[in-house]
Amino acid sequence: MTRSERASALVKLLPQVYPDAHCELDFKTPLQLLIATILSAQCTDKRVNLVTPALFRRYRSAAAFAAAPPADLEKAIQSTGFFRNKTKSIRAAAGAIEEKHGGKVPKTMDELHALPGVGRKTANVVLGNAFQKNEGVVVDTHVARLSQRLGLTTQKDPEKIENDLMRLIPRNDWTNWSHWLIWHGRRRCFARKPDCHNCELLPLCPSGPKFIGSGLARVSK
Ligand code: SF4
Repeated sequence: MTRSERASALVKLLPQVYPDAHCELDFKTPLQLLIATILSAQCTDKRVNLVTPALFRRYRSAAAFAAAPPADLEKAIQSTGFFRNKTKSIRAAAGAIEEKHGGKVPKTMDELHALPGVGRKTANVVLGNAFQKNEGVVVDTHVARLSQRLGLTTQKDPEKIENDLMRLIPRNDWTNWSHWLIWHGRRRCFARKPDCHNCELLPLCPSGPKFIGSGLARVSK
């Protein structure tokens, strides 16, 4: 099976396995999703979702985030880790949104990527989930690991992985692809002991037999 045949088969199978896959960060507006995505660096979505309801009640606009006293914001997001850097990123991005975009989160990759503290991954999350625009593929730790294990890339750099995936996956499925792989990475294809014995993707996965053969795959009871 070629890479592209495997990618096509996975695009057919994954929505059957995860018909409800979606972004697991809670948000109501593009600004909220941008802030939640910044907070999710080195932190679980669950933890972020515990912090954001009070945060979003307190700060309701880009102007409010930009004007927030750093110590107050740091305290509000402390439990997500790296809170000093995250506070700087949130205030700087919110300030630029207020000054350059009239308080509205921009809808293009170039404009989003130009915001301080906003990388391509964050921009892709916002474009795909707040604006339903498939401009790229979100490559986080799960998408990177699974795309490698599934034999769709040999690259390690996220942008190079993204380029490989954009060639293999139909554009309409770019946002879904990230959701499917993130869900599979959290529920089945764990970093240390993937659950290959019970994996729905095993017939298509070149790594499954290797893990099972080496005894590294988890056996569910
Ligand atoms: S077979 Fe194993 S390595 Fe392949 S996707 Fe499934 S859990 Fe991951």
